[in-house]
Amino acid sequence: MLAAMPPTPPPTPEPGEVRIRDRGDACPGALRLHPADDGRLARLRLPAGRLTARQAEVLARAAETLGDGRISITSRGNAELRGLAEDCGAELAALLAGAGLLPSPTHERVRNILASPGAGLDGLGSADVQLWARALDGALCAEPRAASLSGRFLFVLDDGRGDVAGLGGDVSLIAGPDGSVLLWLGSRVFRLAAADAVRAALTAALAFLDAAEAAGNGAWRPHELPEEHVPDWAGALARAGIAAEPVPVPPLPVSPPPAPGPLGDRALHVLAPLGRLTAAQLRALAEGADELRLTPWRGAVATADPARLPALASYGLITRPDAPGAGVTACTGRPGCGKSLADVRTDALAAPPGPLPVHFSGCARRCGHPHGAWIEVLATGDDTYLVDDVPTPRTSLTAAVAAARSLPHTR
Ligand code: SF4
Repeated sequence: MLAAMPPTPPPTPEPGEVRIRDRGDACPGALRLHPADDGRLARLRLPAGRLTARQAEVLARAAETLGDGRISITSRGNAELRGLAEDCGAELAALLAGAGLLPSPTHERVRNILASPGAGLDGLGSADVQLWARALDGALCAEPRAASLSGRFLFVLDDGRGDVAGLGGDVSLIAGPDGSVLLWLGSRVFRLAAADAVRAALTAALAFLDAAEAAGNGAWRPHELPEEHVPDWAGALARAGIAAEPVPVPPLPVSPPPAPGPLGDRALHVLAPLGRLTAAQLRALAEGADELRLTPWRGAVATADPARLPALASYGLITRPDAPGAGVTACTGRPGCGKSLADVRTDALAAPPGPLPVHFSGCARRCGHPHGAWIEVLATGDDTYLVDDVPTPRTSLTAAVAAARSLPHTR
């Protein structure tokens, strides 16, 4: 039977040791619902954002019958349901498990795997990292120790095009054109054979767990380890029988996300307005598609005929880079989040579209902000914002965002 999971307890510190945190990882999951001002919140990990058409239908039904009728897409390509009743946990878990969306209750929060959404579909990239993501998910769920990873620990699998390589992975695999792969572990990079990629990623994650336990400082991610406790990555890979050659750190490949529209001749890419899909929009996306891949840009790739794009636009999905709402995201804001200083989602509706992401935040926590260059719109009160640090009244937001779009950005 599926049951609510307690928070992971923090490891015990040595006497006199400095801890970076004293609480376990309270990241929400599908079995650990998080209280919010608009009800309970469930976060469902979807490795590589993948949903079959049947799973999409189950998720749409769960949103309609148990939540507020919408599915939020996170900056890691996961799905969130909001507005859930306090006592709906068992029913939600049963629905998700029945659709194969909870393959391991003990590992459900550690299946954080981002992969190039267009891999294998548009002729770009050097390897089908979507297949790697499935293999890594299976290996993670089969390894009991992996259940101790924090819900924030992230695997990133880039097919070489550079669309997700810069999204902050703790363990990143970047496919090379010659059948090799680069394994990035913070400031250490190793070249290895693609056939060893998945095993190497899991080995690195387990080496981190050993190091975190030895450090005893409650680290959730490798960069939180004290210098003297950084894992011996090379040794761990060698002990696992993986031939890994250390290489000088190359420039990280970085390319912009695909524009909404066709993706090759057998797939399409759309954005969800402010990162939320209605149940009807999710069903429309799944119609005629073999699978969906929710993206870190808060949209979805569908393996469907691009001729469906006009029909999807009629559901309010963003199908062109110049359509209203393109490149605009917002946190939950009021009324869903009690910390918010403004109804940022309503205010974001008027922001002009453009290729550079614009993110509205209701407070300085900046939940879900994009990686790389972006324009920040930060609420400072009921009617006041900072637009890239410039005080701006709410009535001038549209003009201020348009002006910010024309400037070079490094944020
Ligand atoms: S950024 Fe602040 S207001 Fe927005 S969801 Fe996060 S905590 Fe709430």
